[in-house]
Amino acid sequence: MTASPKTRHGGGGGLTTIRQQLEAREGEILAPQAAKSAESRGRLRPEPEDDVRPAFQRDRDRIIHCKAFRRLKHKTQVFFAPTGDHYRTRLTHTLEVSQIARTIAKVLRLHEELTEAIALGHDLGHTPFGHAGERVIDSLMPGGFNHYEQSLRIVDVLENDGRGLNLSWEVRDGIAKHSKGKSGAPVGMTPDLRAGTVEGQIMRVADLIAYVNHDIDDATRAGLLGPSDLPATFIGVLGPSSSTRIATLVKDVVTESLAADLAEIRMSDRVLTAVLGLRSFLFDAVYENTIATAEFRKAADILSGLWDKVRERATEFLDRRTIDEEGLDAATRDFIAGMTDRYAIRLFEQLFIPKPWAVE
Ligand code: MG
Repeated sequence: MTASPKTRHGGGGGLTTIRQQLEAREGEILAPQAAKSAESRGRLRPEPEDDVRPAFQRDRDRIIHCKAFRRLKHKTQVFFAPTGDHYRTRLTHTLEVSQIARTIAKVLRLHEELTEAIALGHDLGHTPFGHAGERVIDSLMPGGFNHYEQSLRIVDVLENDGRGLNLSWEVRDGIAKHSKGKSGAPVGMTPDLRAGTVEGQIMRVADLIAYVNHDIDDATRAGLLGPSDLPATFIGVLGPSSSTRIATLVKDVVTESLAADLAEIRMSDRVLTAVLGLRSFLFDAVYENTIATAEFRKAADILSGLWDKVRERATEFLDRRTIDEEGLDAATRDFIAGMTDRYAIRLFEQLFIPKPWAVE
């Protein structure tokens, strides 16, 4: 006999689905401040619920199965198209963020699958060649560009042959608001700027905790940093290794957020100052380092070259419907931003580098 998604439930004899049982369990297990699948504000387009999976779990699965998620594998995190196998890519960064975010959510009795869905979707809109690529597209696109708006556009519009993934409001809100403000602070934003769920607010701290630590690791691997280069004051607060630092940071987030009764995600001033100090140090020593950024200038030339060329040959490369409905710039942005590093390099070669004559 095959398992049926419908099972008998309770003494009342009412027929409930596995999904409804899981939703009921959320109400029993999760903190009152946690988001609940059954109380979601809903999807862009109404659709029937799944028999087995509650809404946020279903959203997590949709993100994992989408094409933009697989492309993260070949997008730069910090080091441009690294040949070493152990450098982070945008995909492994995303998985590390998800892991840290889920740990925080679980300990705080928040919704782990909502947190995971937001984490897995947060960087889908990243361009090829990391933040260098983002800056180039921002300068070329009238009205500018940023990756978090493009992440939302991917899940709302571009995936699924232009129909989007039709995710729930809570996941979309978390994706749209995952990025830090100009101050660079991951906590302490006013309610209008932060995510509407506590789960969504975890993303900024989890993103920061993940990248500060893995970028130190990758920069050390690349020979840009040695252990004694890290500022002693901040290391003294956070710990000498990635794992001790992540533990200190996660514990701080958990303790401070519980002390605030989960009204918002918080960090202590001492730990926040140390992690932001480490981040500024990385900006000077790694992100703006001339050796690491020399290749990015070439990447910028590739993307601006492609930007002009694919517009000239729009019928060949760009989406017709987007051109008709939103214009040539929007269609160019979607195409260029969606590329992986290696796709951009290959297309550049194809469009700009003459092939040698093959003489028989
Ligand atoms: Mg990120």
